[in-house]
Amino acid sequence: MTLDSRLRRRFRANLLRWYDREQRKLPWRGETDPYRILVSEIMLQQTRVAVVEDRYKKFLQQFPTAHDLAAASADSVLAAWSGLGYYRRARNLHAAAKQITANGGFPRTAAELTQLPGIGRYTAAAVASIAFGKPVAVVDGNVKRVLQRFTGRELSDPLCWNTAQEMLEPGRPGDFNQAMMELGATVCLPGEPLCLQCPVMKLCALRGSGIRRQRASRRKAVLSYLLAQKPGQVFLQQRDADVSLMPGMWELPLLENHAQPDKPPVLALRHSITVTDYTIMVHSGVSRGAKKGKWISLQSVNDLPLTGLTRKILHRLQLLPI
Ligand code: SF4
Repeated sequence: MTLDSRLRRRFRANLLRWYDREQRKLPWRGETDPYRILVSEIMLQQTRVAVVEDRYKKFLQQFPTAHDLAAASADSVLAAWSGLGYYRRARNLHAAAKQITANGGFPRTAAELTQLPGIGRYTAAAVASIAFGKPVAVVDGNVKRVLQRFTGRELSDPLCWNTAQEMLEPGRPGDFNQAMMELGATVCLPGEPLCLQCPVMKLCALRGSGIRRQRASRRKAVLSYLLAQKPGQVFLQQRDADVSLMPGMWELPLLENHAQPDKPPVLALRHSITVTDYTIMVHSGVSRGAKKGKWISLQSVNDLPLTGLTRKILHRLQLLPI
């Protein structure tokens, strides 16, 4: 679709003025190192900003360069990723760092960046525009929502990418892309947009009219886990390598068929994964009958790639070393 050139100019100017004034202070803002930008973009794909803020700094302390990450073991990378979820991202990031190191430098264009493992069109455009100033637009869920509301049209994915590219400020592509995502994340919200705070409200086709809050329907479930302990040790199991969710990660044994031992749980907590809210019961007991498990010293448990839930349980029970 072709947008009026005056409209585009006003949109860019209003958006960037607002972004310069209102952007959230985040650890990756103003960053120009492509490796650090890549780490932040990959972490942010499926994890909340508040969680990423903390993890991003720790991850970069441990692996400050692509070279350091490439030289690390898979287990230490997964352990550093623990709590962020979607571990395939960590594996791909590790593989990308190895490829960057083997190639002797960071790719600079979006087309070259998509040759790295796990780097799709969005991430490639984000890194190319923010780190190298390449005039390529990004489209993620936030940008798509802003564009659809702004134009007042349902946009197919290809049309969305074309429209984003048309709107892009070629003089400040990295800032423009981040401003679009920031607008979607903080003002043009998925439920009810905050149109009165929007820098492009006067230009927008929708201006919030007719938008009603939509809540994703959530499921509830109960899971019970076994906590088997010896002095200074805890019994953990490794997930199979071929399962789609968190392959190879370590966790407490799951009590099958939600078995509820006679004794009350030593811990009950809530844990949400995608659209399911779990009630988690942790029962102390013996490991007899648990398959494929191993006794792990509590001192070294942090060296293993734990599932986020297992880390949360051990933390709540004060079993993790400080
Ligand atoms: S005016 Fe409202 S609907 Fe339009 S882009 Fe701004 S926040 Fe979104």
